[in-house]
Amino acid sequence: MSGRLSGKVALITGAASGIGLATARRFAEEDAMVILADRDAAGLTAALAELQAGRDRHLAITLDVTIEAAWIAAMKDIRTRYGRLDILVNNAGFGRFRSIADTTLDEWRATLAVNLDSVFLGTKHALPLLAESGRGAIVNMSSMRGLVAGPNSGAYSAAKAGVRLFSKATALECAAARNGVRVNSVHPGHVETPLTAPAYANPDIAKEFLAHTPLGRFAQPREIAGVILFLASDEASYMTGSEVTVDGGVTAQ
Ligand code: NAD
Repeated sequence: MSGRLSGKVALITGAASGIGLATARRFAEEDAMVILADRDAAGLTAALAELQAGRDRHLAITLDVTIEAAWIAAMKDIRTRYGRLDILVNNAGFGRFRSIADTTLDEWRATLAVNLDSVFLGTKHALPLLAESGRGAIVNMSSMRGLVAGPNSGAYSAAKAGVRLFSKATALECAAARNGVRVNSVHPGHVETPLTAPAYANPDIAKEFLAHTPLGRFAQPREIAGVILFLASDEASYMTGSEVTVDGGVTAQ
């Protein structure tokens, strides 16, 4: 532990799995108090037990990021328990490969709700506490699909592109308010997580994805977590409204 987040309270959504869990581990290593939020209660229990390591330092909140009342209740809990919030990582999300013809309106709405509405709701309800921090940071999870499109990813690409510009708009609003809150988005490429494992297990899909990935391999969640850590920390104090790609070079082509 080198204490890059000492004294800070950080809320991470989608923290029971994949990139969110890796980020929670990384933040705890850097001495943050971590609030793990997810709708997967069993996954949260396991993640919290691992992070606490016998101490009572971190907190798990069962939260569906698409439900506004759940965010309001979560902020109340955080204020009561810690009295502050310094970092919000809006990470929860999911995506399915579907042609537009095969996408139902319900699936479209669900994809936008989990990936985009969630970022709006989290931002709206966490901002008062983050502003009180004086050095607040929001890191929003977009994707390389929020920068460049791919086939069969219409709803997901639309949602992640929305996250990109919502992040910039929020960054400008916070800068104008001089509230000390920085806002940036992260754009990973192909990361091996429980979300992607079924697709990557298909040799044809893996071959196709790796063929257009200059580094020639999938990312591990910890490699994305390191970038989130940097953006969330005071080391990134002059970064706001930025989009950071972590894609093994895919979008450099
Ligand atoms: P994951 O499935 O391993 O983890 C996502 C977590 O989010 C799960 O624990 C899930 O329970 C939670 N979640 C989903 N819907 C939720 C909801 N409504 N409320 C609360 N929690 C919810 O996936 P991952 O690969 O770690 O993805 C994390 C984020 O990274 C997502 O936003 C995803 O779109 C983005 N991303 C992933 C990749 C990749 O290749 N894995 C690439 C680019 C972006």
